[in-house]
Amino acid sequence: LPTLLLYCRPGFEGECAAEITELAAALGFPGYVKAKPDSACVSFHPYAGDALALLRALDFQQLIFARQMIACAELLRGLPVDDRITPLLATARTLGATFAEVHIETPDTNEAKALSSFCRPFTKAFTAAVRQAGLLGTDAAAPYLHLCFLSSSACHVGLSLAGQRSPWPMGIPRLRFPSQAPSRSTLKLEEALHVFLGAAGQARELKAGMRAVDLGAAPGGWTWQLVRRGLHVSAIDNGPMDENLMASGLVEHRREDGFRYRPPQPVDWLVCDMVEQPARIARLIARWLADGDARQAIFNLKLPMKKRYAEVQRCREIIAETLAGRAYRLSLKQLYHDREEVTGWLRCSSR
Ligand code: SAM
Repeated sequence: LPTLLLYCRPGFEGECAAEITELAAALGFPGYVKAKPDSACVSFHPYAGDALALLRALDFQQLIFARQMIACAELLRGLPVDDRITPLLATARTLGATFAEVHIETPDTNEAKALSSFCRPFTKAFTAAVRQAGLLGTDAAAPYLHLCFLSSSACHVGLSLAGQRSPWPMGIPRLRFPSQAPSRSTLKLEEALHVFLGAAGQARELKAGMRAVDLGAAPGGWTWQLVRRGLHVSAIDNGPMDENLMASGLVEHRREDGFRYRPPQPVDWLVCDMVEQPARIARLIARWLADGDARQAIFNLKLPMKKRYAEVQRCREIIAETLAGRAYRLSLKQLYHDREEVTGWLRCSSR
């Protein structure tokens, strides 16, 4: 297959393109990239035309800026208005797989969203045609078939692989804002927990009675996620915390500087949403773990407008330097609920 298609946040095509070009080259897949500004997608074309092999070689969890990763056939253009299904189905057959699910998608742009009124009824008809053609199976671990409509007449047809994809259509988790949460930021931590830990990881790593510190906690959206799971939270912020959240009895509010505060005893979790230079945050988080003050951390890095990819790489280096000689794992992702920012999950294997 000639094309690796990646979805990203509109405006982050440059970062997504730089990242895939670097990772693909390191895996032995040199190629070129097409990334139209604000198109919310990037296509990478390995010179050898082996996007499926590249899809297998990549680690989706390692990609920061891609929401979804799909190996595609040549872009279909000029689809006939009266019968789009026939050419799309013919291309789906050439992918050589039976599929677990069919996802009919568009890039995450306002223009493409206007296509959703067309996509919705089309989904039913196309899925029925895929089933009738014997291309839809019952194995949940089979590839997903993706159609990505750029317009009503141009469409990418491709597949994603189990363990190498986001489970959500368009790579976007639809989370409902919990009405009791003190701020919309709560969705960032909720999404981070879904994406990084999954259901099983959350059950294992976030247990009632555990202790956490939330740096830059006010008004308490992140603290609320932890309290909801029964954790005791020290909320560090000069700003006011939500009264209902404080009434839970699980929160200690300390009006202190998040860069100076350290807990009297090591805690299970550190979370941090302070608005500060990303390099400063990266150093702070890594120091906490290096000193054994927390076992793991979820933190947000607010990115400057320029050189955002370089800034993330710099934060990665700072963490590596600070934790030199220790076994640690770092995941970074631009979540759907992240704007000009990315979220990190850092954990140490040994104290
Ligand atoms: N995560 C919070 C939530 O879900 O409600 C929102 C946090 S808000 C984006 C950033 C917070 O960081 C602000 O409340 C601000 O007062 C706090 N902050 C910034 N610098 C700080 C510092 N040096 N020490 C403590 N808090 C700080």
